[in-house]
Amino acid sequence: MTKVLVADDDPVTVLLLTKTLADWGYEVVQAEDGKQAWEALIHDKSIRLVIVDWRMPELDGIQLCQKLKADSERFYYVVMLTSNTGTDNLVKSIEAGADDFISKPFFPEELRVRLRAGVRILEQESKLQFFANHDELTGIYNRRMILSQLEKEWQRSERENIRLMVLLMDLDKFKSVNDQYGHDIGDRMLQHFCDIVSRCIRPYDVVGRYGGEEFLVIMPLSMDADWHHAAERVLTSVAETPLVTQEFGELHVTVSIGQAEKNSSCLRLENLIDRADQAMYAAKYRGGNRLVAFDDLEERT
Ligand code: GH3
Ligand code: MG
Ligand code: MG
Repeated sequence: MTKVLVADDDPVTVLLLTKTLADWGYEVVQAEDGKQAWEALIHDKSIRLVIVDWRMPELDGIQLCQKLKADSERFYYVVMLTSNTGTDNLVKSIEAGADDFISKPFFPEELRVRLRAGVRILEQESKLQFFANHDELTGIYNRRMILSQLEKEWQRSERENIRLMVLLMDLDKFKSVNDQYGHDIGDRMLQHFCDIVSRCIRPYDVVGRYGGEEFLVIMPLSMDADWHHAAERVLTSVAETPLVTQEFGELHVTVSIGQAEKNSSCLRLENLIDRADQAMYAAKYRGGNRLVAFDDLEERT
């Protein structure tokens, strides 16, 4: 059910709108003024459709429109529903960031179809947003998104002094999967691998496609034994769970995993990835299908 926030200081209007919107299948969240509306939107990040009144005591409709359009993290569709009629007011509202403008008293059918148009735009926007952040083939985060998540986690770990580690994973001899069975099977193998990884990591870990057959896992707040279990689970599940194909039967693949933890000698985010990469290459060098921690690499050399 699509949620819609109604911000109006007139209780009769709110009541009428709530009833009408509910009849049309919307879930209504009420606010008495712009300030309450803003707080409700911060509290419930799934609300994207907003109907605002112009004149309200704390933070009026124009100010709320400006605030919502300035939010770079989220996209809202805002309908100004006001008794301030006329073209000048319409211009003022849309200039402030409203997407649509309806005068009171309003025709319910007009509001209904204009909201439908807003919902269509919101649906398009969320599709675009999804594909800007996710890898089309596997559905997990793409390189841009996983790196931006890592940047966030890096800053959080600096701020709150919490541990942060990463796994860099590369499928072993993956080129030969493509060569032997074709690119489509290669693609399915990548999807299969991502399904396994997503099942093995913990709810607060995130995985993204770092390159062709390379994947990055971010593990914040990890206790030693904990990350080790998750990484071992990936390693063994991948090796033990074949991709079942009609054409070629069961196909097996393995993965090399490099692990690195942020510490006092790791000054930049790039260092952390580079360390995981070195550990991953050591895993490859030792025959693949294994997990190597950068710290163990240091001790030996
Ligand atoms: P190693 O064990 O050293 O990692 O060998 P490898 O063959 O896995 O590594 P290499 O880097 O030589 O080859 C990676 C291959 O991954 C080459 C490329 O065609 C394939 N690949 C990358 N992205 C995709 C993709 O989206 N789909 C398919 N099917 N193959 C891909
Ligand atoms: Mg590889
Ligand atoms: Mg590779």
